[in-house]
Amino acid sequence: MAIRIGRWDCGACGHVGNLGPDTKCNQCGSPRPSNVVFYLPSDSDEVSDENQIRKAKSGTNWVCAYCQAQNTATDTVCNSCGSPNTPQEEHRKLEEKVYDLSEVPTSSEDIKRNKQTPPPPPPKKSRKWLKILGIIVGVVLFFVFLSTFKSDVDVNVDQKQWSRTIKIEKFDFVTEEDWQVPAEGQLLESFQAVHHHDRVSRGYETKTRTVQVKVGEEKYVSGQKDLGNGYFEDVYSTRPIYEDRTETYEEEVFEDVPVYQTKYRYKIKKWADGCLPAV
Ligand SMILES: [Zn+2]
Ligand SMILES: [Zn+2]
Repeated sequence: MAIRIGRWDCGACGHVGNLGPDTKCNQCGSPRPSNVVFYLPSDSDEVSDENQIRKAKSGTNWVCAYCQAQNTATDTVCNSCGSPNTPQEEHRKLEEKVYDLSEVPTSSEDIKRNKQTPPPPPPKKSRKWLKILGIIVGVVLFFVFLSTFKSDVDVNVDQKQWSRTIKIEKFDFVTEEDWQVPAEGQLLESFQAVHHHDRVSRGYETKTRTVQVKVGEEKYVSGQKDLGNGYFEDVYSTRPIYEDRTETYEEEVFEDVPVYQTKYRYKIKKWADGCLPAV
C-alpha cells in the first residue's frame, strides 16, 4: 500500500504545489482552505519515511469549529485556538475520496474541470414523442368525424357487359421421369441417376488452435485514495492473467458421396394445355 504526498495550490498568492500535509502556504503563510481538494502529480514518488507513513495512516484532518484551522487526527487540541478535539465540539473532518486511476486530479486545473462537469441535459425525447402521438390522434379523430357524414346517391346503370374464358385441354401422351412408373404409365427406358448424397466420414485430421488459459492473478494499482490529510494511498485490484497456449485436436472430415438409383422414363396419358407432342 504505497503512500504518496498530495499537493494543494494557494488561492491567496497563487503558489503552486504546497505539500499536502502542510496547513500553511509555503510562500505567503495563508492557511490551507477548509474546503481544500488535494491533487496528486503524476510523477509523485512513494513515501518511504516511517514517520510520514504513520501520519498518513492516522486518519483525516479536522477543521476547528471555532477558528477553521486544520489539525491532524492525532492533535488533541486545535493548534491555533486550543479548543479540545472531543466529539461534543462537532469539528468537521476532511473526507476520504477514492478515485479511479483515470480520474485522479493531477493539478488544480483538473479539480476545477471536475467541478465544472455540466449536469446531463434534461431528456427532450419524451416531449417529441408526445407531439407525434398528438398529431396521430388528431388525424384519426378527423377521419372519425368525416365518417359521420352520410348522404344517399341515386345511380343509373346504362350498359352491362360480360365475357368468359374457356380453357381447352387435350387428353394425350406426355413424357415424364420418376423413381417408379405409375400403374397407367408405359415404360420407355430406365437409367441410373443421382438420387441423393450421403455424408460419409473420411477419417480424422489433426489441427491446432490457440486457447487462452488462466495461469494466475495479479495485483495492480487501480486507483488512488485521498486520505483527507494531504496524503494519497494506492488502491489495488486483482485481475486474472491469461496465457496463449497452442493445442492440437482431431477434426472429423466428411465427404458428400452421390448415391445412384434406377430412374424411369415413361409416357402417360394426361389432360394438358394445347397439344403436347407424345413420344
Ligand atoms: Zn500563498
Ligand atoms: Zn481553533
